[in-house]
Amino acid sequence: MYKITVLGGDGIGPEITAGAAEVLKAAAEKYNFDISFDYALLGGAAIDACGTPLPEETVKKCLACDAVLLGAVGGERWDSLAGDMRPEAGLLGIRKALGLYANLRPSRVFPSLRSASPLKLESSPCFDLMIVRELTGGIYFGRRGRGERNGTPYAFDTEEYSKPEIERIVKLAFELAQNRSGRLCSVDKANVLESSRFWRETVIDISAQYPDVELSHLYVDNCAMQLVKAPWQFDVIVTSNIFGDILSDEAAMISGSIGMLPSASLSDGSFGLYEPVHGSAPDIAGTNTANPLATILSAAMLLRISLEQEAAANAIESAVECVLEKMRTPDIYEDGLLTVGTDEMTAAVISHMRRENNEI
Ligand code: NAD
Repeated sequence: MYKITVLGGDGIGPEITAGAAEVLKAAAEKYNFDISFDYALLGGAAIDACGTPLPEETVKKCLACDAVLLGAVGGERWDSLAGDMRPEAGLLGIRKALGLYANLRPSRVFPSLRSASPLKLESSPCFDLMIVRELTGGIYFGRRGRGERNGTPYAFDTEEYSKPEIERIVKLAFELAQNRSGRLCSVDKANVLESSRFWRETVIDISAQYPDVELSHLYVDNCAMQLVKAPWQFDVIVTSNIFGDILSDEAAMISGSIGMLPSASLSDGSFGLYEPVHGSAPDIAGTNTANPLATILSAAMLLRISLEQEAAANAIESAVECVLEKMRTPDIYEDGLLTVGTDEMTAAVISHMRRENNEI
């Protein structure tokens, strides 16, 4: 029996996680494993109910399960609260409490969604890349401060990485590359930054353990250009926290719709937290128009990585691909295809998986 903790969060979060949980149940039924769900509060919903964005009960439930499925947090009504009381503090807090140091963001263009990309992809190969971002170190967590020197105010942040911090994320990226096309690109700014030179040396040291993976290095500015020029040249990209933050948003944009992009945040072992890349979309909450596919694809990543149910994950992804040929939520609307709501899209993914089951 696998135990999943569901953190619906705010806005469209509860709608899309409820749908993804139904998809997980259907996948469990089809592939003969048991799955149980426990629910906990995070973000604005937790502030309203318990006065804190990350109740202890939520951390306990997450630490006691096999994987966490998260919707999104945040909304205007909590925007005026102090930083550590805002919904986003709950999100950062749960990542820290669970030791989630690796953020995996796949970015791909489904063949039927080529025209949704801002790139001219009609006559180009489709792309399917994975950005592995270090999530708990670097400049976002380094020493920072402000001061005044000779009457002139200044501020600073520090990029610092220890060798073990680099080694663990890079090993994870090499292993991912081994299970994909065997190519890994490490992104840094080694022409300028000492921390990047150290990053690159460490990556090269580790590469000796993975002779079957073809390793390349790119400076981050070049990588940003290459992503819009020819994204299909990449398979797995590994990089630091700040570079990964920026490059993964760029990769999200070129894939077309924010409503399609899943993500995984992993700690040691197979434990992970899975969530769509988008936010809580308060403007469409409760209207049954949110695209549930990013969360459903996050559930597929959960099955593959944390539960090692590869066949079930593949079945969800292939159901999503087939359903997209016939119907769309409003964010990915296309002339000639049926426009459906969140519930109908979710039901179609489930029914496609079940139909395939009957055929077998
Ligand atoms: P957003 O991603 O919530 O929305 C941006 C736009 O995309 C909106 O027009 C929204 O309607 C649309 N959109 C987002 N997801 C969609 C989906 N699944 N289907 C269809 N359309 C979708 O970003 P925002 O508007 O900048 O932020 C809204 C709130 O979400 C803020 O409080 C922000 O802090 C929070 N947020 C949370 C997370 C997270 O929980 N990981 C991430 C980003 C933003």
